[in-house]
Amino acid sequence: MPSVFIKTYGCQMNERDSEAVAAQLVAKGYTLAPTEAVADVVLLNTCSVRDFAEKKAIGKMQNIAADVRKNRPNVVLGFMCCMAQSRGQELIDKLPDVDLVLGTQKFHHAADYLDEILAGHRDKIVDVAAEPGSEATIREHLLYGKVARNGDGHKPPLQITAYVSIMQGCNQRCTFCIVPDTRGEERSRSIADIVAECRQLVSQGVKEITLLGQIVTSYGKRGVGRAELPLGRDAQQRVPTTEKSPFVQLLEAVHEIEGLERIRFTSPHPKGYGDDLIEAYARLPKLVESAHLPVQSGSDRVLKLMHRGYTRERFLGLIKKLRRARPDIGITTDIIVGFPGETEDDFEQTLSLAREVGFDNAYLFKYSPRRDTPAAGMPDQVPLKIREERNHRLLETINEIGKRKYDAFVGRRTQILVEGPSRKNPARMTGRTRCNRIVVFEGSERHRGQLLDVKITRAGSFTLYGDPAIVNL
Ligand code: SF4
Repeated sequence: MPSVFIKTYGCQMNERDSEAVAAQLVAKGYTLAPTEAVADVVLLNTCSVRDFAEKKAIGKMQNIAADVRKNRPNVVLGFMCCMAQSRGQELIDKLPDVDLVLGTQKFHHAADYLDEILAGHRDKIVDVAAEPGSEATIREHLLYGKVARNGDGHKPPLQITAYVSIMQGCNQRCTFCIVPDTRGEERSRSIADIVAECRQLVSQGVKEITLLGQIVTSYGKRGVGRAELPLGRDAQQRVPTTEKSPFVQLLEAVHEIEGLERIRFTSPHPKGYGDDLIEAYARLPKLVESAHLPVQSGSDRVLKLMHRGYTRERFLGLIKKLRRARPDIGITTDIIVGFPGETEDDFEQTLSLAREVGFDNAYLFKYSPRRDTPAAGMPDQVPLKIREERNHRLLETINEIGKRKYDAFVGRRTQILVEGPSRKNPARMTGRTRCNRIVVFEGSERHRGQLLDVKITRAGSFTLYGDPAIVNL
């Protein structure tokens, strides 16, 4: 059977989609190739959020095509996900070596399309059409095979954490974002369907599940899919109306799963944090004290231009409520620097908001115009030099706050869930605190999957170190 190599750009949703496609292909008998240089099929899972990400994927494909076409002309090359969706046929016109372009609602067809191309029945396939029910097709996992080199006899390690896709798409239409075009309208899976997938994962040894979606706090607001209906029918139905949002109803249902230790979710939208969700933090012990809340800017004027739907005051009020519910909550964020029209005063407000909240970490993005988004045509685009300079200043502030917060952990005992060997130093083990901080310690394989109390002895740059002498053996 052919071997496949999938390279993923972008967010956790893309990571999850790649895993589901890989699992689908492995189930069909494909093996996973360690590099593109030895694969029979190379798929690039692409991101469109920034221009840079698109350019990187196109450049990578050009290099792969130049190489494989010289030496191995039968290798199948494909693009999938966001850039595939937004550019479609244009990608093949630009890169004629590409054989497959698979849109964001078509991942479940990957194996069939590759079979057709490999068998010579079809030359090129571009499929970026919408497909009702496709939100429920991202369900296969590679718990044992993700890092395996099939056929080499190496037993792959157990996966302790897993992502579960609960919805696709976004209806928010932030003015800088291309996601509503690439991922389509919000479509949610049914609670029963999601819980069944989570149960299955837990029965295979998973202890922590992260519920995934572009805007998870909108889960179910436009109905949920009916798992019993066949794909191809518009299967959304209303969630029964109670005082709780569908997302909180989902959290409660997942929380019931015996053997599951921790629940996380990403990405929420600040305006979707109702009191019922904050109250859920106080009530559901498996829902860990960690929140990724993309604020994007600290200036009301810029937030309005971005079409974010909340003010600085409302965001700060939300942080207060969350800290009241869970005093130790870890809060991270996304911030865009240099949005069109952002003045020095607007930027100063972002700096002051970062200090006031005391984010544990923040992902900073220099604004990058995306075609077909309202922000790309806005006046007063901020020159690159200023965007870079502001990015640098904000990064210094975030690092300074992060260092203070991480240093404060030294000497404390904290619970971690051990995930496996550290990526930087596989001789050590790594786990995560409930508030999502990474802890490295001198453990061994037998600690994998355990909830351990460790004493923090040292803080590095966004990493904590635990004393092996204190580990409960
Ligand atoms: S909420 Fe805004 S930034 Fe997030 S995916 Fe939707 S449109 Fe994009």
